[in-house]
Amino acid sequence: MFDLFGFLFLNSLLFRAICLLLVGLCIGSFLNVVIYRLPIMLNRKWRNECIEVLGDECNLSPDDTRFNLLHPHSHCPKCQAKVPVWSNIPLIGYFIIGGKCTSCKSRVSLRYPLVELICAVLFVAVGYVWSDPWAIFGGLIFVSVVLCLMLIDLDTFLLPDELTLPLIWLGLLFNLHGGICGGLTNAVIGAVAGYMILWLLFWIFKLITKKEGMGYGDFKLLAAIGAWLGWQNLLSVLILSSVCGIIYAVILRLSGKLNAGNPIPFGPFLGAAGILVLLFANELFPLIVY
Ligand SMILES: [Zn+2]
Repeated sequence: MFDLFGFLFLNSLLFRAICLLLVGLCIGSFLNVVIYRLPIMLNRKWRNECIEVLGDECNLSPDDTRFNLLHPHSHCPKCQAKVPVWSNIPLIGYFIIGGKCTSCKSRVSLRYPLVELICAVLFVAVGYVWSDPWAIFGGLIFVSVVLCLMLIDLDTFLLPDELTLPLIWLGLLFNLHGGICGGLTNAVIGAVAGYMILWLLFWIFKLITKKEGMGYGDFKLLAAIGAWLGWQNLLSVLILSSVCGIIYAVILRLSGKLNAGNPIPFGPFLGAAGILVLLFANELFPLIVY
């Protein structure tokens, strides 16, 4: 049975795509939970640390209610009604409940099924680009964590160390014996160079303009991308993300949705560029060593 599964997974593109589509939908559903809950968990942790260090000086009261990725059960943010089990089925669940809370009928964001769908499409794409199970496994980890980081940054302007740092270590480990960037040397130089390039740009920009152009989370995200994709891919990631970021900012300014001096998060663009280069490096940038 297991042999047959392995044989089909390795040899049939269609079978592999169907498997990865289903796994991708489920992982996407889990990512929705992480994207929503991790910033709240961090906020609580930082509050409690403030209270611990500053005591009465900080005028905050501790929050000891249990809140993590599993607890409490999902509920409607408007009416607090528990979300029915079938609505948790990835993608389909949203349409079964008609995109509305079953209790108070308030709209459920279309972003939830969209994240599940995007995750599934990325998983299938990883399975299309690679046939080696180890490379596919690495690719799935990379796209899942990066997708999660992109959306958290979009919502909260945070790129939590809880995700960026493990992504760096996993990238280095994964490339220990070849991996997807051609070996550990490329990965280590990629991680260090990724961090240093943005760190240098940050300080040059700050010394000239006295403003902070990005956050330390961005340095760590590019370090992680370097650890996974190797230093050879950093330039294409940087160019792609900067161009897309600038176009996005110009469109927002022209449509009046962004005021002068207001920041936009850079993480979503770095992440998207990292995923695109991972999947299409050979087609987009033929100079890259893979
Ligand atoms: Zn409700």
